[in-house]
Amino acid sequence: MDEFELINRFFRPLCVDVAENDIGIGDDASVLTISKEQQLVVTTDTHVESVHFPAGAKPYDVGFRSCTTSLSDIAAMGATARWASLALTVTDASDDWFESFAGGAADALKQCQASLIGGDTTRGPLVITWNIIGTVSAGTALLRSGAAPGDGIYVSGTLGSSAAALTFPLTGVQSYTALQDELRNRYWYPKPRFDLAHRLRSIASACIDISDGLVADLAHLARSSHCGAVVDSVQVPVDSALIELVGIECGLQMALTGGDDYEICFTVAQENESELMCLGKKLNHCITRIGHMIEGSGVRVIGGSGQEITVNKTGYRHFD
Ligand code: ADP
Ligand code: MG
Repeated sequence: MDEFELINRFFRPLCVDVAENDIGIGDDASVLTISKEQQLVVTTDTHVESVHFPAGAKPYDVGFRSCTTSLSDIAAMGATARWASLALTVTDASDDWFESFAGGAADALKQCQASLIGGDTTRGPLVITWNIIGTVSAGTALLRSGAAPGDGIYVSGTLGSSAAALTFPLTGVQSYTALQDELRNRYWYPKPRFDLAHRLRSIASACIDISDGLVADLAHLARSSHCGAVVDSVQVPVDSALIELVGIECGLQMALTGGDDYEICFTVAQENESELMCLGKKLNHCITRIGHMIEGSGVRVIGGSGQEITVNKTGYRHFD
């Protein structure tokens, strides 16, 4: 059973009494009405050493990245991050380790003026769990479920760099080439797309952040929207440093299936596409149309001459 089957079988039945306009399990974060005007947006994310990040990483980087990638789920909902709670399990760590980890977490929270409001500290193998709480005007959250056949599929930024960064040692190496450094920085210091997603609330029909891989995450969006998706691989914005390092073929596979980029993938109905282009220019943000939604189900990836590309592993899964 994969992690999503596990969740559906054992945990979804516990999700009861969710109000009609609220969201429980199944999106980047849950959405809960607290007043006529506002909804809370809540996400939990766990980061396990050697699973989510390499062992022996710099504590600053671990603090920054774990917090930032958790914030990304709130950003992808078009919400504003307000509060964070931190559960930290760590073996014998020095004061310097804690200071540096806390510095990374502080810099991550500063990106959106969110405040730490609680947590738990225990001894054991390094595991970090962030619970982030945000707010959004009632009824405006960007959900995975709003896409319709005909909508264009878009991604922010470029993809594949984090997957490439994980192919060479991230720790214990004294010097990296400039290209490797560029990719490592993308991995350790992702940028939650708060500004863009916030403004997409009136333009996009659905949105998800890319944590497991483009094809895997787009498949979640398509399933939630009861549609299929077609991706034109030629349009996929592969990171240029990645192309330089491994070539376009390998780079494209990493962009399609590598996770950890924390860009957003969203859909826009045809009548809103010109408004989207204006927004991209206004924010000076790289936004790329990579395909369109169709009737049916699943994600098909099409190559330059119209042939279907087989994507072996669609994205990261914790259980198989
Ligand atoms: P993301 O990659 O956006 O963080 P996940 O793939 O981790 O999302 O989770 C998918 C959905 O399943 C989310 O809505 C999440 O809240 C929910 N979920 C994951 N694990 C559990 C669990 N143990 N119990 C209840 N819900 C869960
Ligand atoms: Mg997510």
